Amino acid sequence: MSETTKFLLTERDIPESWLNIQPNLPQPLPPVLHPGTHQPIGPADLAPLFPMQLIMQEVSQDEAIPIPEEIRDIYKLWRPTPLMRARRLEKALDTPAHIYYKYEGVSPSGSHKLNTAVPQAYYNKQEGMQGLTTETGAGQWGTALSIACAMFQMECHVYMVKISYQQKPARAALIRTYGAEVYASPTDRTNAGRGILAEDPDSPGSLGIAISEAVEAAVTSGGKYKYSLGSVLNHVLMHQTVIGQEALKQMELAGEYPDIVIGCIGGGSNFGGIALPFIKENLTQGKNTRIVAVEPASCPSLTKGIYTYDFGDTAHMAPIVKMHTLGHTFVPPKIHAGGLRYHGMAPLISALYDQGIIEARAVRQSDLFEGALLFARTEGIIPAPEPSHALRATIDEALKCRESGEQKVILFNLCGHGHFDLSAYDSYLSGNLEDYEYPAEKIEEALHHLPQI
Ligand SMILES: *Cc1c(COP(=O)(O)O)cnc(C)c1O
Repeated sequence: MSETTKFLLTERDIPESWLNIQPNLPQPLPPVLHPGTHQPIGPADLAPLFPMQLIMQEVSQDEAIPIPEEIRDIYKLWRPTPLMRARRLEKALDTPAHIYYKYEGVSPSGSHKLNTAVPQAYYNKQEGMQGLTTETGAGQWGTALSIACAMFQMECHVYMVKISYQQKPARAALIRTYGAEVYASPTDRTNAGRGILAEDPDSPGSLGIAISEAVEAAVTSGGKYKYSLGSVLNHVLMHQTVIGQEALKQMELAGEYPDIVIGCIGGGSNFGGIALPFIKENLTQGKNTRIVAVEPASCPSLTKGIYTYDFGDTAHMAPIVKMHTLGHTFVPPKIHAGGLRYHGMAPLISALYDQGIIEARAVRQSDLFEGALLFARTEGIIPAPEPSHALRATIDEALKCRESGEQKVILFNLCGHGHFDLSAYDSYLSGNLEDYEYPAEKIEEALHHLPQI
């Protein structure tokens, strides 16, 4: 029994605070602008959308925000999550590299998203909200928020992108099982939805449209509902830092320190969750870990987008933020990694990339599943298509080590399992997986519609 495979912590090791990287940034984040006036906004402007505690977290300059005991108690249902050494994958790759993964698929929702859904529901409950509105693309976020709302006896109204609703009826059923209402967006419940339907009654919907509907439903609810976002915002990334804080301790148990930390990026929250604590070590403790964000080649906001002010949604209801964007009118190709189909990127991750603190690379869908299958057949876990991007980059780094003979330590975030994505595996296994080229023309078109700031 010389080879340890799982590095486990106890419930007492669940982090006591969320880590806030803002005070450690070499340059502060640019201001957030009002979608109507284009002027910097303050807490009062955001109050119709979010509870004050979350707004204060969004702009906080404190290095750590204590996690309320009630939330730590709920975290115990799945945290601390395991850190695994992928010894069998290493053998299959014949690499001298040491590969570790943090496994967030053990949460009841099957992904990291519950880490922020619980605190978001908690602070809204504290402020007396009756319920929350939100959007969901592939369904992971809607599932997580519906679980969190059920735990706090709150209503949950989920605007689900119509095409996913139609293609993945099981996901909508899952969300309803936890007690939420699910609507196929665009709906006729909001002005934003009715406007889209008037132009195109067969609109398949998009994340940008669903966000507009959920925001409108909250701000017109007469104070009964607020809005909840599953990624992108500073407070969301901060809640996810429980992942990286645990991983730091677990790497210590393993007696190693990562040379490379890798995560997939859609809006940036699971990547921020694993990476920010290691970025803090780089910035303040003289550590020198490479931090790599991996995105789909068909929705390449960091590697091909531009760093500028843009809207977070289609109907211009959400604030304007400075981020790497493909343009808010860009509708990405329908890849299986639905969680990575967003036109923009978290302002915090965009700033880190702009300041040269992190690296980014893009991976094509056809290159993912070979690695995902190898992982399933060696480690036994079927990875979701989203973290299979991080896995692909991890395998590529490990293969480079095979060439060079270097024994690098690589850590990646396996942020969710793929049990709800078996139709994607089915397509791959039956040779029907489509690949999408980098949609250069559509992106260029979309970039014409950026707001003039
Ligand atoms: C939502 C989701 C993502 C993408 O969102 P991020 O905010 O970038 O983390 C990636 N993987 C899984 C499994 C997801 O559910």
